[in-house]
Amino acid sequence: MAFLCLLCHQAGHKMADCSDGNRPRGNNTPGPKAVTSFAAVKTSRDALCARCEDLHVMDLLLREDVVDELDTVYKAVSTNLKRHRSLGPYRDIVLVDTCPLCRLLFGIFPPEDADIEPDADYLLKPLRTYNRLGGVIRADDDDSDNTKRNAYGVSLSILARPMLSKQAVELLAMSSYRFIYETSFGIASSSLPPTSATTSTTSTAAAKPRQGLPARPRAPVVDYSVIQSWLHRCDTHHPDCTAVWVDELLTTSMIDVQTLSIVPCPANCRYLALSYVWGHVVPEEDALTKGTLPATITDAIEATKKLGFRYLWVDALCIDQDPTSPAKMQQLGIMDRIYAGAYATLVAFYGDSSLFGLRGSTPERARPAQPHETLVDPLTRTAYDVAAMYPTMAAEWEFPTCTHKTRAWTLQEEYLSQRLIMFGKDQVHYRCQNVILTETVDETRDPSQLLDLLQSGTGEAGDYFRELSKSRAAAQADAAAGGHKSNINNTSNNSNNGGGPSLARRRQMAAAQYVSALDDYTSRNMARDTDSLNACLGMLSFLKRMASLQDFVWGLPLRDFPLSLMWCHVSSSSKGNITLPPPRRRADFPSWSFVGWQGEVSYILPENLLPVAEKSTRERAEMDRKQITHDLCIAFGGIDNKTVRLAGWTVRFAIQTAPFSTAYVPGTDESIGMLTQNEERHPTSLPSGVFDFVVVQRVKRNLGNGRFRHLLYLLMLDDNGGGGAVPSRRTLVQWNVEGSFIPTPAYADMLKRREDIQLV
Ligand SMILES: [Zn+2]
Ligand SMILES: [Zn+2]
Ligand SMILES: [Zn+2]
Repeated sequence: MAFLCLLCHQAGHKMADCSDGNRPRGNNTPGPKAVTSFAAVKTSRDALCARCEDLHVMDLLLREDVVDELDTVYKAVSTNLKRHRSLGPYRDIVLVDTCPLCRLLFGIFPPEDADIEPDADYLLKPLRTYNRLGGVIRADDDDSDNTKRNAYGVSLSILARPMLSKQAVELLAMSSYRFIYETSFGIASSSLPPTSATTSTTSTAAAKPRQGLPARPRAPVVDYSVIQSWLHRCDTHHPDCTAVWVDELLTTSMIDVQTLSIVPCPANCRYLALSYVWGHVVPEEDALTKGTLPATITDAIEATKKLGFRYLWVDALCIDQDPTSPAKMQQLGIMDRIYAGAYATLVAFYGDSSLFGLRGSTPERARPAQPHETLVDPLTRTAYDVAAMYPTMAAEWEFPTCTHKTRAWTLQEEYLSQRLIMFGKDQVHYRCQNVILTETVDETRDPSQLLDLLQSGTGEAGDYFRELSKSRAAAQADAAAGGHKSNINNTSNNSNNGGGPSLARRRQMAAAQYVSALDDYTSRNMARDTDSLNACLGMLSFLKRMASLQDFVWGLPLRDFPLSLMWCHVSSSSKGNITLPPPRRRADFPSWSFVGWQGEVSYILPENLLPVAEKSTRERAEMDRKQITHDLCIAFGGIDNKTVRLAGWTVRFAIQTAPFSTAYVPGTDESIGMLTQNEERHPTSLPSGVFDFVVVQRVKRNLGNGRFRHLLYLLMLDDNGGGGAVPSRRTLVQWNVEGSFIPTPAYADMLKRREDIQLV
């Protein structure tokens, strides 16, 4: 017998005797570390150690009633809180290699630095396995007696006690889907009796193990037939997940994986696309024929073959990489078509460059063996295979080591693809427009069809993309019927163009999606400043098509929504005092667009992006209730390269920054209101002096008794040295004016109407 140490993850000593015990804690990847092979000590019917016997885990796995963690309306949080087994404080947990449960725990234990409090109690916590697929079964679904939803499999996760508080669990349920019970273990489908058509949860149910979505054993190299069965399931049951062919795709090139050559895209081509992080690795010329491609591309070619496809689209090989080539710009502009046209997108979800390859795709890329053990149910004396279930897609997304989600380019690839096959650290995940599936949850064992009950929404920022992409037919019908603004006043949810959402509804969704995607996009990194616009062109093309918008202007929907100028950089304090670097100018791009800066942006009043007529009924009712009106809005005039022409109101005043930023009538000590930035009163970035501003919009609120509060959103200008230079945007400020506004001569004199405002 040997002890197993959780600090250095080696056998031979207790944690108390570990020489590695005082190492500094770092930012470790959650989930299991190296997997030790216990072949030498394993026997088929190993007995549990005394502590493990007392845990009665088979009762939890087979017989206890476990509450649905993610049920959005469940009121039974406290009921589930009691269903756990305590393991004690981390450093006091003794594991031995002769006990099968100890070996399993050793295999799935989170690293010490992934926990919240190092000295906290650790618990084994049961979870319905379908919760690991990121969906919820709502209480009002067609399952009134709960027979279906009670046919759930159970997995046990390890978590620290603070994570078990009612508030923590509620928080997890609220942020839904993103729960972080990383690695767990459950009864494997390999040891379950075959599911018969007549399986029911009545009468002898207590004696039968639950079948609903058990653990699935996985080998170090992925079993491609599992991925094929996911694609097949999706082909059979989800008509809205199909790839969308358009003839524009004939302008693209494909890798023919059989001849290893680049060919023009054949008509109605069935192809896969690749989404990966380049990481400064650029394939050399002719790398395909020379066989010197980066590992990720080589693996993707192999995976394409194994999945039975002939064509693969990879940006590095299929787009002319000359930055000045018109062909490149044309291809970037149809990036949405390319990803939506792919049968599925292979995602290199793990690793920070194209040298990492696709985890598990080939023997060279093998993953550690999956911990699994035989545990005997003391009640029935039945032996069960119990296997590790790896972190969910959502959890893996949150890993500090997940580079894929930090890159600007990958955002549109994730959102615009119909189906994603994501090669993660320890398992492959699948996400289509309807379900999330994963390698270590066996969706083929689902006698009650829980998968069909799972709600499709993933609760992520990309949800409007999914909803919009289901509106393709409606968008095409609108385009055919004359396109832009054809039925904008039709606010009913269904227009007469084939049953899809109305144009007004689609524009609402597009605006909401634009706002949230921009926040995400600008918080991501890119290797080259020159990609600032290129990396979101596909996303913008998609929104433009789906909502019949006019061309975007340097990334902004300015022609349709001039208020899209009202973005601002996110401040450190609004991010809970995470220190953000100050925004940095990107010289090749205009200052009035987010593409002209590096730094996360957001819209202060995203709902004001849409003209009043296009707002939802709820938003309009809210405006009426609060007696809010908007005026002095900016209008788009035209664009000449980087110079935008606008019509609207301008104002000049002096700023004095101590103690707060206050606006003064220039040359006087007449204070005319407070200035804020990011809705904060203490901006440090505003200088003192006399400045010109462009009014983007005034929001007027009736305070009652004839009093009004005015909030003006102003672009603060930089005169770029004066002397006739076209000014640029310095920042966005809010000017707060209490009381009457226009009637006071001082204010009226200050506002000037101009038909030709220029900004660069
Ligand atoms: Zn150790
Ligand atoms: Zn044990
Ligand atoms: Zn599907």
